[in-house]
Amino acid sequence: MPYLPLPRAVDLREVGLRDGLQLEKPIPLEEKLELLGAVVATGVRRVEATSFVSPKAVPALADAEQVVDELKQWPDVHFSALVAGLGGARRAVAAGMPELEYVISASDGHSLANARRTSAQAVDAVADIAALAHEAGGACEAIIAVAWDCPFDGRTPADHVVDIARKAVDLGADRLCLGDTIGTTTPGRVVELVEAVRAACPGRDVGVHFHNTRGAGLACVLAAAQIGVTQIDASVGGLGGCPFAPGASGNIATEEVVYLLEESGVSTGIDLDRVLEAAAVAERAVGHALSSNLYRAGGRLQPRPRRTD
Ligand code: ZN
Repeated sequence: MPYLPLPRAVDLREVGLRDGLQLEKPIPLEEKLELLGAVVATGVRRVEATSFVSPKAVPALADAEQVVDELKQWPDVHFSALVAGLGGARRAVAAGMPELEYVISASDGHSLANARRTSAQAVDAVADIAALAHEAGGACEAIIAVAWDCPFDGRTPADHVVDIARKAVDLGADRLCLGDTIGTTTPGRVVELVEAVRAACPGRDVGVHFHNTRGAGLACVLAAAQIGVTQIDASVGGLGGCPFAPGASGNIATEEVVYLLEESGVSTGIDLDRVLEAAAVAERAVGHALSSNLYRAGGRLQPRPRRTD
């Protein structure tokens, strides 16, 4: 196999239960738990279980407390929950979920639409949210949304994202994740921004979160992996989008990332056939076709007998 500079292994995070379901009509708790069980059975060991945001804004995740209550049945899995502010962080910690992903929009346009405050105000809140997580024995990851482009404000200046990352770490964020919320970025821009954020925040993991809206999601994964990024978000079946980002659709599909990386010699710890089974559960739960190409193709190539006539 020709040499590609790739890590030996990556650590995928399954975000289908949160990013994947948030735009969907609410599905019953038992179906969500069936999907969670199917996702855990794939071998993935990091799962974003839900989010603690306004149930009015995101009714599909209004059952966050009940979901968290069920997570103890999978003690080997590292679960986390997304929050958009201190109120949500308090709810999460009170529910027994101190592993927080706090979203900061890098643009004012997205921040005002998503969380009704400016980007700078969102950054300032890291201090209280990280302190809350740490006191409860958890951690706080800062996810920088619209890190490359914003549906309202256009291109996000890379130096602005770097400033946010640096400040978030100064205020207590344990890890960083860069979100291509509307699926516009491309490999060169991924490498440029990840390298810049790493240089500004030495010693912190920088993960990536891509959407496949314009078909470049997998290319971005490969570019990130080639510079050693190992924390990669993906969503079973390609479920998902962002209700506050017009045009955001389709997370990158877990099974496509697993296929791409495993076939390139990178270990994911995830069983591809099990992901396809989980995607079937997801498709039944949401009641419509999923965007994943690999799911439609039915998995790895299974050669058929040659025709002899
Ligand atoms: Zn997303």
